[in-house]
Amino acid sequence: MERLRKAEWIHYANGELDTYIKFVNEQIFPKFVLAKRGYDFSPSRRSSRGGMYADGPGINMAMYHYCKNYTGERLIRVYEYKSFDSSSTIGGFYTKDKYQKLDMVLLHELAHAVQYYAYRINNTRCKPHGPIWKNIYKRLREEFLNPHLGDQVALKTEYDDDVASITKRRKSDIPVATKKELDALFARAASKT
Ligand SMILES: [Zn+2]
Repeated sequence: MERLRKAEWIHYANGELDTYIKFVNEQIFPKFVLAKRGYDFSPSRRSSRGGMYADGPGINMAMYHYCKNYTGERLIRVYEYKSFDSSSTIGGFYTKDKYQKLDMVLLHELAHAVQYYAYRINNTRCKPHGPIWKNIYKRLREEFLNPHLGDQVALKTEYDDDVASITKRRKSDIPVATKKELDALFARAASKT
């Protein structure tokens, strides 16, 4: 990805994070600091992470996968973890907004960073996607993402129609091989053995 486009995405992500952290400071933990923000654009980096780093709570984002496909408006289904993907507050969704998939992962990973901070402050522990994390993530989602999601029923209908028309088109595009062509292919395959 070219440098200018990378810089734009990083600029966007940093702006979002600043807003989210302000909310965390005002509503949850006044002294929470995000000590590390990593943006990894390598295509091989598939998953993002949030948690405790050497310098304190931090996140590291697998940026390539949120940014690579956006050349124009496109309706996509964004998936959350399978166990809560169907949740209306912390689950996946349909969107045409080029930033909302990234927003979701920023909120998800920031919630992990805050969770580890909470462990330290409250001297407690729980599962990575357990009640402490879910509570933080839900508050962040309801503040910053859910109110901005489009009409999910309408978007789902449109998405399903898109999928159906693509499937139909693919089927009719595939030319049916004639017997003569198949015989030729099999003969070629046989001659190689
Ligand atoms: Zn997670």
